[in-house]
Amino acid sequence: MTEQLRPDGSLRHLLTLETLTRSQIERLLERSQSFVRPLGESPPRSAALAGRTVANLFTEPSTRTRVSFELAAKRLGATAVNLEVQLSSRVKGESMLDTVYTLQSLHVDTFVIRDAQPGVPGLVATHVAPHVSVLSAGEAHLSHPTQGLLDALTVYQRKQRFAGLAIAIVGDIRHSRVARSAWHAFSRLGVSDLRIAAPAALMPDAEEFQDCSRHTQLASALRGADVVMMLRIQRERMGAADLPEDEEYFAAWGLTAERLALARRDAIVMHPQPMNRGIEIASDVADGPQSVIRDQVRNGVAVRMAVLAEVLGAHA
Ligand code: ASP
Repeated sequence: MTEQLRPDGSLRHLLTLETLTRSQIERLLERSQSFVRPLGESPPRSAALAGRTVANLFTEPSTRTRVSFELAAKRLGATAVNLEVQLSSRVKGESMLDTVYTLQSLHVDTFVIRDAQPGVPGLVATHVAPHVSVLSAGEAHLSHPTQGLLDALTVYQRKQRFAGLAIAIVGDIRHSRVARSAWHAFSRLGVSDLRIAAPAALMPDAEEFQDCSRHTQLASALRGADVVMMLRIQRERMGAADLPEDEEYFAAWGLTAERLALARRDAIVMHPQPMNRGIEIASDVADGPQSVIRDQVRNGVAVRMAVLAEVLGAHA
């Protein structure tokens, strides 16, 4: 696994939450919270990253993650450039590393990378110059560390604790980098009742999620839960033969108001988006009073500001 820390222990790259300590995660969450403002207020701004250049290199589609990294960089005074790699040099046969070297020569000092292939952010991290940082914006089905942080921040804002919470992650766990990063964050932060729930075909292998209870029925996962995190079926990561029918899936696994009533009355509902209303979640639940889905989006910018400030050593 690629080393994420500098010799002095500070964070240089963020590729996974798996190897971070609890106090490193807590520090990032505290820093993130300092960048959160209520909607309607202007977002925080500073010149802490003036002179820095952040490049977003995405080879998979993204709306929220790309935009929020861009806004985060700009709100800290950095320059941000966006490259959809498959549309530019990759089609000309240039490799990701060549693109990175080119951009590094143009004084890019932080790369934000999303790729469908495992290992790409780590590969780039081992090849960049010592002053350069790499942040994963989603690596295959394996890791989405800033999503894990924003999910943890959202839970903490509503519950003020992690100990003693029951958190159910529901849906296509097998192909979900969001589930893996949430699992890394929540287990490190001391959540003891972590539940994963999925039809058998979408359950991960037994060696993963070992400290979670496994549920092949939605009801048992929801009963008494404080947090319900719904996931999309990652169609792009499975063959057509493995795909469940939409209506059948909703009938067995869709989060409706009636099913949500099995969870605690003050349970919160999360979803990383993009959301398929009427497939994994009913519209009235997605927009209902227990939904914190829009808070997750807002928190995403704050988390990305904190991570950028942290790896670039800025006092923002
Ligand atoms: N946006 C999240 C991701 O990049 C979740 C999803 O696509 O379902 O993994």
